[in-house]
Amino acid sequence: MLQQTQVATVLDYYRRWLERFPTVAALAGAPEADVLRAWEGLGYYARARNLHRAAGIIRDQYGGEFPRELEQIAALPGVGRYTAGAVFSFAYDRRAPIVDANVARVLARIIHLRIPIDTAPGQRALWAAAELLLPAENVRLYNSALMELGALVCTPRGPQCLLCPVLACCAAAPHDPERLPVKKARKPTTALTEDCAWIVHGGRLLLQQGVGSRWKGLWKLPPLPAPTPDDQEPLMHLTYPFTHYQVTLRVFPAPTPATPGEHQAWCPLDSLESVAMAAPHRRAVRQLMKEG
Ligand code: SF4
Repeated sequence: MLQQTQVATVLDYYRRWLERFPTVAALAGAPEADVLRAWEGLGYYARARNLHRAAGIIRDQYGGEFPRELEQIAALPGVGRYTAGAVFSFAYDRRAPIVDANVARVLARIIHLRIPIDTAPGQRALWAAAELLLPAENVRLYNSALMELGALVCTPRGPQCLLCPVLACCAAAPHDPERLPVKKARKPTTALTEDCAWIVHGGRLLLQQGVGSRWKGLWKLPPLPAPTPDDQEPLMHLTYPFTHYQVTLRVFPAPTPATPGEHQAWCPLDSLESVAMAAPHRRAVRQLMKEG
């Protein structure tokens, strides 16, 4: 849950998730729709699907016990090098490096890395440094300390070099550590419009299930069957960010189709809250339901 997401956002989800799925077996045995519903609003839904698949693998291949070898952990769906190293070192106090955003900043400064850290060569250099500096034992403590150093002392702005325990071996300290780490130039934000249809018929709303990687398995309002005239006002609109896009979601009334299209289904209005829905579409549906 914490991948790309702040602790404050995750806390409530985490508690509710553990109430709903208290064991690996409970998660592995749950229908995917329930898993997506519990995740709704956290975004990056591939994480929920991966967690679900990983629970199945742990139940079926490891007798319900979380694997204890680095290669086995790293082979679980959704687990990359950082997560595998974090579990291996924090849970089992075994020897594996970790490079998260804080550690990347500390290491980039210590080795005075002047290539962008969000490129393949930059990542290779960081992981090589992390591997090289790793002590033979007490890795749990060491990795925690490295993360804390980044969070509290070697901060993005105003690093406190004079208080830093690794000042003597830091190559960036005598220069301008704030200029590190270097990152690739960001893509400019692009405006995007997403026009959807509001079709209520016989106490049911027409929804469409996502099939692409972004919202796979989640329900959303169907796309408009035909472009609207330029002067037609939407029933509502809202904006949300998606990667480097600023998306404006507009909802228009549309005629009832003779039959639902591919991946579309009618959902009774009193069941809308129980289906897993893409967060911006949930906001739109709630607003329009409130307005009646
Ligand atoms: S000496 Fe300064 S730049 Fe180097 S690791 Fe410590 S706080 Fe960061």
